[in-house]
Amino acid sequence: MADDLTSLFPYAVRPIQEKMMASVWDALTSGGHVVIEAGTGSGKTISALAPTLEYAFADRKRILYLTRTNSQQRQVIEEFRRIRDLQGVGEVREKGEPPLETNDQLGRILGEINEVETPEREEQTCTRDNTFETLWDGGMAEGICVGLQGRSNMCPITSEDPEFIGGTPEELSQMCSERKKNTMNRMAGRPNDGKECRYFSAFLLDDGLEVRRWAESATPTAEELIDHSLSMGICPYEVTKAIIRDAVLITAPYIYFISPFIRRRLLEWMECSIDEVIVIIDEAHNLSGFARELSSLSIGSRTIRAALSEVERHGDHEIGGGMLISGFLGRFQTAMDRLTEEYLIDDDGLVPPSSLSEELMFLTGANSNRVDDLCTRLTHHGTAIQDRKKAEGKLPRSYIHAVGAFYLTWRDLEFERYTPLIVKGRKEDSGYLEAFSMDPSTLTGVLREVHASIHLSGTLAPLEEYRDSIGLPENAVLISMSPPFPPENRMLVHSKELTTNYEQLMRDPEMIGMFRREIVDILRVERGRNLAIFFPSFDLLRRVLGSPELEDGTSLPPSLECGREMFIERRGSSQSEVMDLVERFKVSHGGVLASVIGGRLSEGVDYPGKELEIVIIVGIPYPKPNARQRALLAYYDIRFGKGWEYTVIAPAARRMLQALGRMIRSGDERGFGIILDKRALHFREELMGISEERDIPMALSRFFQGNH
Ligand code: SF4
Repeated sequence: MADDLTSLFPYAVRPIQEKMMASVWDALTSGGHVVIEAGTGSGKTISALAPTLEYAFADRKRILYLTRTNSQQRQVIEEFRRIRDLQGVGEVREKGEPPLETNDQLGRILGEINEVETPEREEQTCTRDNTFETLWDGGMAEGICVGLQGRSNMCPITSEDPEFIGGTPEELSQMCSERKKNTMNRMAGRPNDGKECRYFSAFLLDDGLEVRRWAESATPTAEELIDHSLSMGICPYEVTKAIIRDAVLITAPYIYFISPFIRRRLLEWMECSIDEVIVIIDEAHNLSGFARELSSLSIGSRTIRAALSEVERHGDHEIGGGMLISGFLGRFQTAMDRLTEEYLIDDDGLVPPSSLSEELMFLTGANSNRVDDLCTRLTHHGTAIQDRKKAEGKLPRSYIHAVGAFYLTWRDLEFERYTPLIVKGRKEDSGYLEAFSMDPSTLTGVLREVHASIHLSGTLAPLEEYRDSIGLPENAVLISMSPPFPPENRMLVHSKELTTNYEQLMRDPEMIGMFRREIVDILRVERGRNLAIFFPSFDLLRRVLGSPELEDGTSLPPSLECGREMFIERRGSSQSEVMDLVERFKVSHGGVLASVIGGRLSEGVDYPGKELEIVIIVGIPYPKPNARQRALLAYYDIRFGKGWEYTVIAPAARRMLQALGRMIRSGDERGFGIILDKRALHFREELMGISEERDIPMALSRFFQGNH
């Protein structure tokens, strides 16, 4: 380890942080990968950032700090500011000429707009021009930090025009390119009758220099940069792109690195090659699910209906053999209805990969080549609609294109890695078709190409599953830190008799009543402490808490009445409703929050101090044994010989640990966790210190009275 490894660490270093920094340093110097599991309050972010910044400065590397959500970026930027403040940062000064002369700037932007992929341009991504460099008068605190978010957040046009709400990154990128092209044409005196972007022309006027200088010295969060840029009428996205080139640290949502299309762009803006990048993954337990979702594809009745509306607006056309677009779309819907009828069982059902084309061949009377041809023509008509909408300054989306493209992609998929499913729709009678991606490493495997990667999470066990799932090499270092609080501050118990095991719930009509009685007994002790109950599903929540009154989230039925204020999440609540519920719960004294496990309230919200001291988990949150889950289990069995461990035990353990982790957010807090399911004994390895308890209310009381 470098002697002065802690020189950028802006706090008094704790032993756990020293250990984390040493592991990070080893990964950086060996060009390897380290996976660190450490509880909340252990200082993972700063322990990863401080040595990585030091290494990046010394070795001229770039750091990409990837977060699941935009809001998690703020902490990274605040830690960076603290490091800079500690180093006594001075004024920004320039070395040589400004970074991009207006002509270069125009050239770069024109290249981007036209997506020119010349060999020179590719080469550009591997070299860094040092004619201009931002320097800090502050020892090691050299460099700048940027918070990058997508156009949906940073582009003011998307919030001014409802047309663009919900636009995909690719669609917004096309809209932006079109407006920039029109703006440039007008500025160059060329004819232009399309929509322009005034924020872009303001950016071009002075190269965004003033706001860039401000951003380089202030290291704002993305939100602060947006506000400041907009106060000057300049595009925040272009400003961000322009300063990325000189940033040592860029914090961005996962998609900026995981999506190949967006990653290519980002590396161009950074002007570096992938092996010059150090990636830090925050909340790494979310990565494989994110990558699976990104690489899966689906289509449902809503898309078909939207495509039919498009036909009404843009005209019906023959796409071959006398078949009209509307006729083909109708047959596509019929094909999905027939697959639903034949294969859907409860939530979902496996469909043979060839069944879609077979149904379409039967319904259109065409052979497979002709069906391919019909879908190709759909995409051509869709592209024409996209182009027309783009020229009109609208979101360049075509549902007709989406239908054709879905079929052609489905036809070419490797079904060894994808599971073809028909899945029950939320509101629609017909299910939707999905090619579910079982292998996140098809996207995350790119992490092997970076200089080094650091993966951080509070709950990642078993770490081998994470390493294998996302495709890290076998020699990746896996480290699990002990919790950052004394063991006596947390007690975990499980019930001896209760279970949500499906057969037993069916066999024993008394079981729901037993759950209810146990919960009431627990609620009657330690009444002044906030408590949360997490259920495996809204259905079970309703059955156990069981009253129509609960739909209002206001009161319990008489059988559960114990004089405590209840805060019950309802299925389908909006984000603002849930946040309002949780804020009211947090300031209550002895309130009871009821929600589902694996959801927003058991994973995404912090409850520091007395905001949450007791957590009850009802049942073991095993994944539902549907067709998707069975396919995943079989895939992991074949690939790693560990289907059950990786696809059933691991996600259930993580969900419980996430929920239990809400209770203690710092070293001096205390918490009592209860699992109301006797099968918790199978999780003794993951739920360290858990014990069976006959009289849970008594144990709870004794714990908080300090007598356990
Ligand atoms: S230049 Fe900026 S403001 Fe204009 S469309 Fe593009 S992202 Fe939006």
